[in-house]
Amino acid sequence: MSKLYVVPTPIGNLEDITIRAINVLKEVNFILAEDTRTTKKLLDKYEISKQLYAHHIHNEHKTLESIIEKIQMAESAAIVSDAGTPAISDPGFLLIRACVENDIAVIPLPGPSAIIPAIVGSGFPCDRFVFEGFLPHKKGRQTKWKNIAEEERSVVLYESPHRLVKALKEIVEFVGDEREVCVAREISKIHEEFKRGKPSEVLAYYEAHPPKGEIVIVIGYRK
Ligand code: SAM
Repeated sequence: MSKLYVVPTPIGNLEDITIRAINVLKEVNFILAEDTRTTKKLLDKYEISKQLYAHHIHNEHKTLESIIEKIQMAESAAIVSDAGTPAISDPGFLLIRACVENDIAVIPLPGPSAIIPAIVGSGFPCDRFVFEGFLPHKKGRQTKWKNIAEEERSVVLYESPHRLVKALKEIVEFVGDEREVCVAREISKIHEEFKRGKPSEVLAYYEAHPPKGEIVIVIGYRK
């Protein structure tokens, strides 16, 4: 039975890769990568030389069938994204589902994703939480905020730096200023920052200090 390994890669600090992930990338027949240039840099660091094929949102529908055939003809393949865990706000889901439907064994490796360090580092209850990924930019955004306002568990959101202030304003407006937020920025990198407080306080901070880098917003439990 052919195998597809789903291999998480570092979200910043290149040391955040498991020994198993390195061994799998060395052993598979080929690697499907979101951006082959990004993955090539990672492979070079670990002296891995492997055939790479591009698998990203612009071609994942079109190439699905031929990739499935390729995996079926091989013993094993791996999928990686630019950073973190494939299929988590990244390409991968379509391929994984197609593998399941075609009796290809899917072997997901545990490893880096921005969700877990963000919720853990927030200091908010993490016994139960909801991951919403990126909110839609326009259509359906307000409805999402209204649903989040009703959500009792902690909520984890991905956001881009240039939309952070807008998102924090919307949290003040739709979710209210009673629930605490935490902005986890540049996790595992040199400028890692966890900014916690009332939404209005965190908003004021980022209005004064326009953020750069990668961002996760965590909204605490509804009290
Ligand atoms: N697959 C990735 C994962 O498992 O986390 C997520 C990919 S998604 C395209 C990229 C988003 O993840 C960023 O916009 C940001 O919201 C979040 N992210 C990724 N790396 C991060 C980091 N080092 N610090 C904070 N957020 C990060």
